[in-house]
Amino acid sequence: MSVSKRDYYEVLGISKDATKEEIKRAYRKLARKYHPDVNKEPDAAEKFKEVKEAYEVLSDDNKRAQYDQFGHAGANSQGFDGFGGFGGADDFGGFGDIFDMFFGGGGRRRDPNAPRQGADLQYTLTLEFEEAIFGKDTEIRIPTEESCSTCHGSGAKPGTNPETCTYCHGTGQLSQEQTTPFGKIVNRRVCHYCQGTGKIIRNKCSTCGGSGKVKKFKTIQINVPAGIDDGQKIRIAGKGEPGINGGPAGDLYVVIRVKPHDFFEREGDHIYCELPIHFTQAALGDEIEVPTVHGKVKLKIPAGTQTGKMFRLRGKGAPNVRGRGTGDQIVKVRIVTPTKLSEKQKQLLREFHQLSGNSTLDEEDSSIFKKFKNAFRSSMD
Ligand SMILES: [Zn+2]
Ligand SMILES: [Zn+2]
Repeated sequence: MSVSKRDYYEVLGISKDATKEEIKRAYRKLARKYHPDVNKEPDAAEKFKEVKEAYEVLSDDNKRAQYDQFGHAGANSQGFDGFGGFGGADDFGGFGDIFDMFFGGGGRRRDPNAPRQGADLQYTLTLEFEEAIFGKDTEIRIPTEESCSTCHGSGAKPGTNPETCTYCHGTGQLSQEQTTPFGKIVNRRVCHYCQGTGKIIRNKCSTCGGSGKVKKFKTIQINVPAGIDDGQKIRIAGKGEPGINGGPAGDLYVVIRVKPHDFFEREGDHIYCELPIHFTQAALGDEIEVPTVHGKVKLKIPAGTQTGKMFRLRGKGAPNVRGRGTGDQIVKVRIVTPTKLSEKQKQLLREFHQLSGNSTLDEEDSSIFKKFKNAFRSSMD
């Protein structure tokens, strides 16, 4: 069986004369599709690597030119046309070397024993409205994977050891040499006997089932800064999954969710609320107490206040999460018309109405009433 690499243009689904923009677009689309975080198909990681590798070559002008000239000879023996002006392959010491040169000296071969960074973790932390405003020191418990203490991470039953994979001799890669008129070509792919680990475990550890990892909860201290808002993230470096083969740990991202409040609404650093007042308070003016997250504040309602009027309470909003001052509280007044009146109250209001007629309306309001009446008159004409 010949092991052949797919043509890079074919991998990205583009034509040989694709522009850089087309290459980039195709790569982004496929990378999103096959990204192992998104795509759980068993061959997604392999496809993702293939797409990445194709992009790395085709997005680089030099590498692309070399690939265009030699790629088919190296990849799937479709012919050696266009090889002319190169002065013979001997100059390059065989195709294997050329390929290593193209791909950065063999950097695409992943050593299964090389240190790798652990995966990032994400955790959602739900806060009360006030907790987001004033900040909070808290602890969270996150599920994580830890090295299995029974087998010390090897995955093998205590007393046994993982064996070196005999198919790939522990490299995690299968290589196949292909002889061409110009020299030898080496094709490599992940060893499917050991899934690229380079090791075979015959007697699996019963604690971890051979994975070398166990699920645990770990407790992490979180200092939520004052003024944090819904949707913001806190990054805690080094608190993600542990690294592999001694690599650094991943990061932990804490995503903040803030519960809605019955009375307050927040927009950025400002807090909004709607305050119901009696029509008599609005007409006569009053001093009332308004709740804020910082405690009660006195607010002077001037006589003749209309519904919808807004008042600003400076510095009574949320502190800026980056330390840039504090927002305001905006109070929107809503005038409530009484629905339950005693006989005495009704009597007084009737008197009030007779006394005032239209004279309680200021000039602007009277003109509105005139327009209103005129509208009726014209519709009756
Ligand atoms: Zn193997
Ligand atoms: Zn184990």
